[in-house]
Amino acid sequence: MFESDASTVAQQANTGALPPASEVSALVREAHSRYASHSEGKVADYIPILARAQAEHFGISLIEATGATYSVGDWQQSFSIQSISKAFVFALVCDAIGHEAVHRRIGVNNTGLPFNSVIAVELNRGSPMNPMVNAGAIATTALIPGDSPSAQWDYIHNGLSRFAGRELRVDELVYESEISTNQRNRSIAELLDSYERLPVDPLDAVDVYTRQCALAVTSQDLAMMGATLADGGVHPISGERIVSAEVARDTLTVLASCGLYERSGEWLFEIGLPAKSGVSGGIVAIAPGKGAIGAYSPPLDPAGNSVRGQRACAYLSRALGLNLFASNAQQQAR
Ligand code: GLU
Repeated sequence: MFESDASTVAQQANTGALPPASEVSALVREAHSRYASHSEGKVADYIPILARAQAEHFGISLIEATGATYSVGDWQQSFSIQSISKAFVFALVCDAIGHEAVHRRIGVNNTGLPFNSVIAVELNRGSPMNPMVNAGAIATTALIPGDSPSAQWDYIHNGLSRFAGRELRVDELVYESEISTNQRNRSIAELLDSYERLPVDPLDAVDVYTRQCALAVTSQDLAMMGATLADGGVHPISGERIVSAEVARDTLTVLASCGLYERSGEWLFEIGLPAKSGVSGGIVAIAPGKGAIGAYSPPLDPAGNSVRGQRACAYLSRALGLNLFASNAQQQAR
C-alpha cells in the first residue's frame, strides 16, 4: 500500500536532531493534506460503539524528544486508545518485573495470526507469545503490581497518564460496549488460565484490560506517550522519568516486531520504525532519540491498522529520514 508514496524522497538519513521547526511543521501539514481525502479502509465495528466513529476524522501530531510539538487536523478529537495501551502497559510491567521475567512469562515473537486469535494460544501450548496480541496483553495486564483488580487498574491508569503528561479518563461508553461483547477475550483468558498462565482471575484480568483499552486519548497524547519512549523513558515536557532507558528500549524492540498485527514485517520493511496501532484508528510510531508521531483516522486495513495513519507515518518517516536501518541518503530514498 505504500507504492504510491514512491515520490517521497528523503534528503538524507537523519542521524541527529530533526530539521528546524519550520521544516518539520511544513512536513506535518503536508502529510495531512496528502492523505486527508484518501478513502480506503473500513471503520471497526466488532466493538459496536466503534462503528459510530467518523471516517473523515484525521489528526496528526509529531512531538520531538525536546518537547517541540506539531499538530494538524483533528488532533483534539478523542478516541479510545485500544491496543496502543498494550505498548505502555508492557513498559510498566517490564519496569516492575524485569527483562528476563517478561521474556519468560509473555514472549517476544510475532504470532503471524490475527490479534484476537484463540488458535495462536493453542498452537503455542498456552504461551501468549507476545504482549501486543490480545492473549499476551491480557497476560501482561495480569502481571501489573497490585493485590486487587482495582489496585492494578490504579497502577495502569496512573502509569499511562504519566506517559501522556495529563490525567487520562476512561470513556465509559466504550468500556460498556466492549465489556458486554467481548466473549472472545474472555475465552482467550480462560484458555490461558487452563495453561496456568495467569496469576489472577481470568475475568478480572479481562476487565482491567478492557478498561485500559477504553482510555480516551488524542493524536497528541499518543505522540507524547511515544516521545517519552523515544526519550529513553523521560517525559519530554516534564522531565519526569516514567520508565528506565532499558525498559524504553525493550518496549520499542517488541513494537518493531509485533506492533502492527500480522502486517508488522511489511511495516518494518517499508517504514523502519517501531510502532503500535489500535482498532479505533490510532497509531504511534517512534523514532528513538528523536521523537514520535501520533495519528488518528478510523478506517482500517484488513489487519486492523489505520490506513491514513500508516500513510502519514510512512511519509514523515521518509521525509524526515527516520528509518532506523538506513545508513545513508541513498537507502532512505525510494
Ligand atoms: N480492546 C480491543 C480488543 O481487545 C483492542 C483491539 C485492538 O486495538 O487491536 O479487541
